[in-house]
Amino acid sequence: MFVDIHSHKFAVDDIGTVIYNVPIAKADTIFCSDMKGFFSVGFHPWYLDVYSAELMDMMKMWTDDSRLIAIGECGLDKNSKFDIERQIEIFEKQINLSESKHKPLIIHCVGCYNELFDLRKRRKPQQLWIIHGFRGKPQLAEQALKAGCSLSFGEHFNEDSVRITPIDNLYIETDESDMPIGDIYEKIAMVKKCAVEDLCAGRELLKKHSL
Ligand SMILES: [Zn+2]
Repeated sequence: MFVDIHSHKFAVDDIGTVIYNVPIAKADTIFCSDMKGFFSVGFHPWYLDVYSAELMDMMKMWTDDSRLIAIGECGLDKNSKFDIERQIEIFEKQINLSESKHKPLIIHCVGCYNELFDLRKRRKPQQLWIIHGFRGKPQLAEQALKAGCSLSFGEHFNEDSVRITPIDNLYIETDESDMPIGDIYEKIAMVKKCAVEDLCAGRELLKKHSL
């Protein structure tokens, strides 16, 4: 079973193995329905204009729904039109939610790694922080792992970064890609020189958080 921890494409066939990233504007319809599946929802650093205290309260409510597996994608991006202070402010609210409701964070981070690592140092979170779509070099991967983050790899990745990521901290995703998740698992297993079944962090995450 290939668990896809981050996908923007909902497909009925994948129910039970995919964490579908719900656009926050659609989340209410999903959580008010009996739609099956696993979901993540959060405020993306590009689209903070949709942020409101009311929506944050609704997110709190949705976290009580067992279909909501993770908070995200959320995080920091140097290309966002919102200044970094505002991004940190809203990201921290999602860290609070992740900690109080015991849900992992799926993190989008572009060019703001120092800020991200500082936040981890300051907040000392208990919950899992997964940096999704990681394409960084091994030096950055090492820093992230040392800071206590886990990494999620998609279709495109730096092979050396995959090599140094321990299997327990290594997640796999399709994100926006059309490449089947099984093919991405195979690519990564080849780099890790392991069996695809050994890549079980995603499976463990779902087992732990979908009860
Ligand atoms: Zn994404």
